[in-house]
Amino acid sequence: MSGSVNSADVDRSSNGAVDSMDAALDISGIEAGYGRTTVLRDLSLRVSRGEVAALLGPNGAGKTTLLRVVSGFLPATRGSVSMFGEDITSAPAHRRFRAGLCHVPEGRGVFRSLTVRENLVMQAKRGSESEAIERAASVFPIIGERLHQQAGTLSGGQQQMLAIASAYVRQPRLILVDEASLGLAPLIVDDIFGFLRQVSSEGCSLLIVDQFAHRALELASSAYVLNRGEITFVGTAKELLEGDVFSHYVGTG
Ligand code: ATP
Repeated sequence: MSGSVNSADVDRSSNGAVDSMDAALDISGIEAGYGRTTVLRDLSLRVSRGEVAALLGPNGAGKTTLLRVVSGFLPATRGSVSMFGEDITSAPAHRRFRAGLCHVPEGRGVFRSLTVRENLVMQAKRGSESEAIERAASVFPIIGERLHQQAGTLSGGQQQMLAIASAYVRQPRLILVDEASLGLAPLIVDDIFGFLRQVSSEGCSLLIVDQFAHRALELASSAYVLNRGEITFVGTAKELLEGDVFSHYVGTG
């Protein structure tokens, strides 16, 4: 069956062609966990520049753990992580952030007691605060209309838009998106996926974890399935979308 686990070194551009440039993200042989519990074992994954990759798998597989390793919130006990050719395995989270990485965490990650404006300004580069607000409002107009509202009083969907807009205002090169559509109404999910498509068309690389596997795969060019801390499928999103393959690796969702 195509999509063997040994092809983790495949580097595809968004049109599916193999490219030889440094990947946006290159994870090699990662091991990580919590205390004595190892969650990720010998895990390798690559996101090419400008590519959207989907990371799928059941609850507890280790998807969030992997994103936390990439963003520097959880140390890897083995293996390496590179971003755009730079080894960031030991770099602190703030250095990764400065190098163009943004992580939109599960649960939204907005500062609830701050206003919408303050949330955006915190992420903006010094001197470009107004530009950052305009940039956020251009993608989610509702965010522009709620600048003085406390973020914690926004609806769940608006908070998610703010979390994503906060990442976007920094003009990141690589965004990790963890369960952005969780618990949201279908129309809001459409907006969020529409936005992720736009960010991708602007050249940003994306690694997306989402419960709506089909939606993520429609956007992605490559796909990984994680099960109990190990990659069990790597291939193109198109391959994974094929009925038998999808139900074999992901289930019927
Ligand atoms: P979900 O979709 O449910 O969030 P996931 O694939 O993102 O699943 P993780 O959240 O990475 O999975 O969890 C992987 C494993 O690590 C699970 O067994 C989980 O119980 C465990 N785990 C997660 N966070 C911690 C933590 N802070 N301390 C100890 N164990 C944890």
